[in-house]
Amino acid sequence: MPGKLQSLPDRARLLDELDECIARSGHGAELFALILLKLRGLGTINGELGNEVGDLVLDEFSNRLMECLRPSDLAFRTTGAKFVVLVPSLVGAGQAELAIKKISQAAKQSVDVNGHSLKLNVTAGLAVYPEHAQDPQRLIYCAETAMSSAKSLAKAFAVYSKKQITKTLSVLSLETELEKAIDNGDIELHYQPKINLKSQQVSGVESLARWKSKAHGAVRPDVFIEIAERSGLILPLTLLTVNVALRQSRELQGWSREFSVAINLSAAVLNDPEVCELIKRALGIWGNEPGQLTLEITESAMMEDPRKSLKILTSLRSEGINISIDDFGTGYSSLSYLKRLPVNELKIDKSFVLNMMQDEGDAKIVKSVIDLAHNFDLAVVAEGIENQESLDQLAEMGCNFAQGFYIARPMPFEDLKKWLSSSSWGKQTIA
Ligand code: C2E
Ligand code: CA
Ligand code: CA
Repeated sequence: MPGKLQSLPDRARLLDELDECIARSGHGAELFALILLKLRGLGTINGELGNEVGDLVLDEFSNRLMECLRPSDLAFRTTGAKFVVLVPSLVGAGQAELAIKKISQAAKQSVDVNGHSLKLNVTAGLAVYPEHAQDPQRLIYCAETAMSSAKSLAKAFAVYSKKQITKTLSVLSLETELEKAIDNGDIELHYQPKINLKSQQVSGVESLARWKSKAHGAVRPDVFIEIAERSGLILPLTLLTVNVALRQSRELQGWSREFSVAINLSAAVLNDPEVCELIKRALGIWGNEPGQLTLEITESAMMEDPRKSLKILTSLRSEGINISIDDFGTGYSSLSYLKRLPVNELKIDKSFVLNMMQDEGDAKIVKSVIDLAHNFDLAVVAEGIENQESLDQLAEMGCNFAQGFYIARPMPFEDLKKWLSSSSWGKQTIA
């Protein structure tokens, strides 16, 4: 259910709202986007058809805007035909871009008022906290800069460009060090078990990349993955993770035919035709069954270039490789599009699972996603299980697989082998 459009009389209030949003995001633990939006064409409508018609159009656009947003998004009308949208809990800027695309399409659909069929356009500027700016003032500046760049390029929207910023020394040194680490195979994979909720036994593992930089210590995977994406290192990094994950899981698959390994694929490689061949070749080298490999791809990655993704995913799926939509529920994909994707698993984002025992809304979302997935013949995995209660609740809701700190944290391969033989969830799988 979309929330309510609020009014935002001045800049001081916007600064307050941004301060609150920064606090809610855990001061950078989560990304959020600031979108500045201007509805174009309203001046002409007011001038030619009168302010009353203009007001009706504005109301209609406001309704459509709200329908494009998630319940957690905040939308404000400032002055005239200007709007501000705050999009919290982002995986990346791509997700907010999807929201803008939706809004822009909604504006373009004609509005029928007093026998006139009117069409509108929007211009929007997007900036992401903390990626583009770490304080409200600067964030507004970034979004405004993006907005004027969209205007001058006659585009519906622009994202604040990082290219205009010189890379900081620490990013440059991380890049150089990461390249060396990939070359030397210094990226380690940790594995987090997934259990089948019916049998209460391990069904497989998700591989998660880990890197300890000599200069900076442990670097968070989402950080170094993004550095790899931006510096062209993502393909060699993916090559490394695919091969290590297949080789190590092959050892475990010897113990159980059901055992599968999941690998995360980033948007940047999903649109690279080479990646398909690379994965098929790796399967051939290590001798894993394609059905024992799952590729986890986020909803937003699949939506970046839907046509290319569809082609590559269809080719991988036709080999028998499992495709899972990661972080499901955080994106903006429409049901009609989902139906066309060659996927066989949905992975409910942990943001819904973590609080499902306290938050009735989250529990409802989890249950709806499970039912939705089953209606589409898809298996469902829930991630972020941190206690027995949510594990039980998910089993009751008919969820198929579960993963989370309560079952086990991601661990090095050697520890995984020990865990599999000592945990009550692992013993029978191996026996
Ligand atoms: P993801 O694919 O959504 O991975 C799940 C993340 O949730 C992991 O964080 C995992 O440690 C964490 N997690 C699992 N269970 C729980 C739980 O019960 N509670 C909480 N609070 N968190 C839990 P991690 O390892 O830091 O990975 C972060 C992200 O980095 C991943 O999100 C994924 O998008 C990316 N990533 C990690 N490894 C790779 C990789 O090899 N390739 C690519 N492309 N991306 C990767
Ligand atoms: Ca994942
Ligand atoms: Ca996830």
